[in-house]
Amino acid sequence: SKFMPQPRSDFTSPIYRVRVAVPVYLHDCFDYQVTADQYDQAQIGARVAVSFGRQQLTGIITEKLPLDTPINPAFKLKMITELLDDQALLNAPMLKLLTWSAQYYQFPIGEVMHAALPAILRQGKPYNLLARNWKVTDLEAENKLSKNAIKQREAFKILKLHPKGTLENILNLSGIETTTLKALEKKGFVQCILEAQDFTPEPVQLSQMPLTANDEQKKAIHSILKAHNKYQAFLLDGLTGSGKTEVYLQIMHKVLEQGKQVLVLVPEIGLTPQTISRFQSRFHCNIALLHSGLNDTKRLQAWQYAQTGKASIILGTRSAIYTPIANLGLIILDEEHDLSFKQQEGFRYHARDVALYRGYLENCPVVLGSATPSIECYHLADQNKLTRLELNQRAGNAVMPKMHLIDLKIAKKQHGISEQLISEIKKRLEKKEQVLIFLNRRGYAPVVLCESCAWQANCPHCDAHFTLHMKPYSHLHCHHCGTINRVPDACPQCNQKNLKPIGLGTAKLEEGLNELFPDFPVLRVDRDSTSKVGSWQKIYDQIQKSEPTILLGTQMLAKGHHFPYVTLVAILDIDGGLLSVDFRAPERTAQLITQVSGRSGRGDKKGDVYLQTLRPDHPMLNLLLEKDYRAFAKQTLSDRQLALLPPCRYAILIRCESRSQDENQNFLSTMAQQLRQQSEEGLIDIWGPIPAPMERKAGRFQAHMVLLSTHRAKLHFYVQPWWQHLLHIKSSTMKITIDVDPQEFS
Ligand code: ADP
Ligand code: ZN
Ligand code: ZN
Repeated sequence: SKFMPQPRSDFTSPIYRVRVAVPVYLHDCFDYQVTADQYDQAQIGARVAVSFGRQQLTGIITEKLPLDTPINPAFKLKMITELLDDQALLNAPMLKLLTWSAQYYQFPIGEVMHAALPAILRQGKPYNLLARNWKVTDLEAENKLSKNAIKQREAFKILKLHPKGTLENILNLSGIETTTLKALEKKGFVQCILEAQDFTPEPVQLSQMPLTANDEQKKAIHSILKAHNKYQAFLLDGLTGSGKTEVYLQIMHKVLEQGKQVLVLVPEIGLTPQTISRFQSRFHCNIALLHSGLNDTKRLQAWQYAQTGKASIILGTRSAIYTPIANLGLIILDEEHDLSFKQQEGFRYHARDVALYRGYLENCPVVLGSATPSIECYHLADQNKLTRLELNQRAGNAVMPKMHLIDLKIAKKQHGISEQLISEIKKRLEKKEQVLIFLNRRGYAPVVLCESCAWQANCPHCDAHFTLHMKPYSHLHCHHCGTINRVPDACPQCNQKNLKPIGLGTAKLEEGLNELFPDFPVLRVDRDSTSKVGSWQKIYDQIQKSEPTILLGTQMLAKGHHFPYVTLVAILDIDGGLLSVDFRAPERTAQLITQVSGRSGRGDKKGDVYLQTLRPDHPMLNLLLEKDYRAFAKQTLSDRQLALLPPCRYAILIRCESRSQDENQNFLSTMAQQLRQQSEEGLIDIWGPIPAPMERKAGRFQAHMVLLSTHRAKLHFYVQPWWQHLLHIKSSTMKITIDVDPQEFS
């Protein structure tokens, strides 16, 4: 009998298999074997622990393979280690969204899935973390606490009011720190009880009356509400200060009333306490906040609130687009044009485009809002993929500011400011009004130059100047690779002690303004001055008081803020944006000018904008001056159409980085040749390879190659296998990345 053929196991007992997205840098999902019981229990969208090579990883089940799926005998299937959840964490539309994202952005599916999970769940830890509930155990303890233990006394008073206990996160929100609670626990006055979390949603209540919408707002609200329960995308194209937020709040109200959840995305810098409080004061409901500053437990909790339906509003920055939401009824993306919606490294998705696709999958409307919509959105509107709604009036008595150009070629200057502008600033301050000065360059000076021999202080690792900083001590800083050097006493080339800072950074301008206007406070807002937590909030509070003040800062000031007492905005140097080689530079500069200008005259008094430039004849400036941003956008879109640039063609940028430019060029040229051969004649236009605008960065050489096509699906069809192949054959010293719909060519 030992010569009898053994029956193949798959004929007698079926092999149960699941397909798993595993977080590794590979583009496929992997099949694992499970027991019959596990197969019954396994949920698509739930986590599993699996071994992969020598690692233990947390994956997501994407499929339960039907039992009659053929088996490839060449592969020995591994068993999964363990099922981690008995319920799906990601629902069907979410899984579709992630699978689509991985394909569209050419990024490994397992890594993309992880973008949707908070760190604690990625680590394979249990979903049901217990809530910490604090209760008083000794009612008389107040007398036993020392007079100086102010925080503990305060915490105790609040705890005493709620004999059933108070959840730690609620105590934290009202300013009671966990360390204080632990100190009380140590003394035996309070105790912490772990309880199962309750994710039951609560009804939403309006805690503030809506404003009376004006006719344009009403029209916009009406159009959007007509689209409820189905996908339709809107572009709310409303001037700065025209009340876009009021439109958001009123449509949100209707959606929340139906028991649905709303996802609101804002730019990174936009998620300020002011934004949060605007939503909090209108609605009494659970709001889940998702931003980069959360610790792991807080992030898990906010995520769970969204995923279970407990939170009615989910408010977050870019990555919040990948939060699973139980019952999504509306997506709002404010300041749609903002660059922070595009991830610039790793998984390079664009939250705006993902939002549109998500709305489609979840059957809900998507509202994109901006005072300076991207050219992409105008293009989509022309194709009827977006419904454009205009708001043309500023709310209340405010009117749009008047714009003036100052020709720097003929103007006399002090500290980089023309004398005409200095006297206008003085007039405003004396009338007790506020002035905003915009300079998009932090640090003290962008160049250090030897006035004897023209030597310049450059970063040894990049093709870039060092920026001079004076705080906390004087030093040279490369803003591209982070290198810090001391400032030489004498010129390293000619030994003369004749080194001079050239050009103007915000720190130097601050000195100049203090000299020019010694009687008025100067508040500087840039990444250096606001790095401490709460410092931006302090400045913000001061600006909300009606006292004459000079506000000076970088593009942090350009974003949606409401400064009611600012009546003059000065834009000091945007010429760099007029000269840049990036085809999007005029668009970005026009957006910046319009957004910064929009900070002026938002109150009762009329505003003015002064723009200093060496190029007062520049067509973009004149279009903005004589007409407006929309006229500029229209012109730009037709220019792009003629030049066959995005959004009129679809682009994919390949970035290549290695030890030499030759290595980059040779590799990319060969790859370009292959792509030409593999795709249809004339389908893909290939630009480059060319050296990147900054050829050397952090000691490595950078090159670009751009793939352009009018046919998006076909472009992706040919690029995908080509890219996979390219990843396999590149040398190990070479770093190569793909950027689908690139926003920046740097
Ligand atoms: P945007 O977001 O379009 O820049 P905001 O929503 O910040 O504009 O509105 C600017 C100001 O106008 C805010 O102070 C807001 O309260 C006010 N506002 C908006 N809509 C109305 C309205 N219908 N009636 C009165 N004031 C309004
Ligand atoms: Zn010199
Ligand atoms: Zn550098």
